[in-house]
Amino acid sequence: MLKHRPFKRLIGLSLLIMSLQASAAQLAIVIDDFGYRTKEDNQILALPTPITIAILPDSPHGQLVANKAHQQGREILIHMPMKPLSQQPLEKNTLAPSMSAEEVDRIIQRAISKVPHATGMNNHMGSEMTSSLPGMRNVMRSLSRSNFFFLDSVTIGNTQVAKAAKEFGVPAVRRHLFLDNHQSEEETRTQLNKAVAYARKHGNAIAIGHPHPSTVRALQKFLPQLPSDIELVNVSTLLNRAQQPQEQQPLKMQPEEPKQSSKDSPNGTQTTPPAPVEIGICEFELPNNTSATQLEGIHFLMFVVESIYQDKTLRPLLSNKKPSLFTQQKP
Ligand SMILES: [Zn+2]
Repeated sequence: MLKHRPFKRLIGLSLLIMSLQASAAQLAIVIDDFGYRTKEDNQILALPTPITIAILPDSPHGQLVANKAHQQGREILIHMPMKPLSQQPLEKNTLAPSMSAEEVDRIIQRAISKVPHATGMNNHMGSEMTSSLPGMRNVMRSLSRSNFFFLDSVTIGNTQVAKAAKEFGVPAVRRHLFLDNHQSEEETRTQLNKAVAYARKHGNAIAIGHPHPSTVRALQKFLPQLPSDIELVNVSTLLNRAQQPQEQQPLKMQPEEPKQSSKDSPNGTQTTPPAPVEIGICEFELPNNTSATQLEGIHFLMFVVESIYQDKTLRPLLSNKKPSLFTQQKP
């Protein structure tokens, strides 16, 4: 009996270690808008290889960056420009719901040739396109022929990505958090901590950031100190995991329409409160070389308000039922 005890302890310890490994939460970080900013792009490429990059197909350095990232063994997405609801300058070859299936396919095949080694796609802007089921069916029809997966950047609440992807058998996941809605190192650090908390709670998290200097600095400091229970992975790792138990995807914690989700818990049981939906990044993103970067003062303010108004999910922010910030009584 006694001589077996150390052996049992060893088995117990091994099981404990295995269970700890199995429960490690996985975090995927994607950096969008690659191909315009050489300095920041290279700084991102110096970060650990599980960081996935998303390249704009018509960007000046996209092809070069794709080849470099591929040599590192890094995962690459095509950051596909898709039409937003708001009026703003668009990238060349921006996909729109009004396009025919053939035109969408032609643009996607061209993007695939311009971003070598890409295995997946996510949307740049796209509040109008991704909320159009016929539009996203055209996208998924094309992607299904190329064995691509799709990461929904979720730039609008009623995104049709998951539905269209399912119809065409395209593996799809969705973003949970943005890292830099406000460009400050502190904001990005806060969001990275939120991403870690989200991953611990739900098993995994997908966070999207952009090659802003503040985001780069925050990642450079944060990643070497990543908690030991968090595993940095590329997006397709989560995709494989999410594909198996289809009904239990933690991704569905992100509600399509956040306002309706709280009241319809089955059997009256209390469900976990849904994570807040953050919408709109990349909708305000403007390429460096467009005249819209010259929007200033009241014109920029009008542009932002118009963008909020055109986004169905954000529009209630402008409702007159909200108390005015300027008429609140002092305590
Ligand atoms: Zn973008």
